[in-house]
Amino acid sequence: MSQGDCIFCKIGSGELPSERVDEDELTVAFMDINPWTRGHALVIPRKHSKNLYEIDTADFDATMRAAQRLATRMRDSLDCDGVNLLNSCEPAAWQTVLHFHVHVIPRFEDDPLRLPGTPREPEEGELAEVAAELRA
Ligand code: AMP
Ligand code: ZN
Repeated sequence: MSQGDCIFCKIGSGELPSERVDEDELTVAFMDINPWTRGHALVIPRKHSKNLYEIDTADFDATMRAAQRLATRMRDSLDCDGVNLLNSCEPAAWQTVLHFHVHVIPRFEDDPLRLPGTPREPEEGELAEVAAELRA
């Protein structure tokens, strides 16, 4: 179920080293090699799937449960003030490693992270129009 050239498959199987912090039958969690904050970790399914579009529901559920477990541990062990979960799906949405993963990022009141987007006023009729497209 692994892809030969996928670094996260290799981390999941143990072929590549990582600072592992949690694992279960379906998932592995390890420290991000370039952390945005102290404690930034990634949760992956052991089984390869490219991203949110492709992951099966059992792996998705297990990965999200593992992310929740890790967020709670960050609160209790790192004394963080909050946690962000982040998933990127496709390069246009910043995905750089093409094996599904969830970033679990502990947040601290004085950390340097900022919102990646700027809220804006919608165009006239935009919300109703796009809602209709999504319902179709
Ligand atoms: P994304 O840009 O959402 O696809 O996230 C990929 C993440 O994987 C980045 O935050 C990288 O720092 C992280 N990363 C890449 N290679 C490794 C590695 N060998 N061990 C741990 N984290 C890694
Ligand atoms: Zn993979």
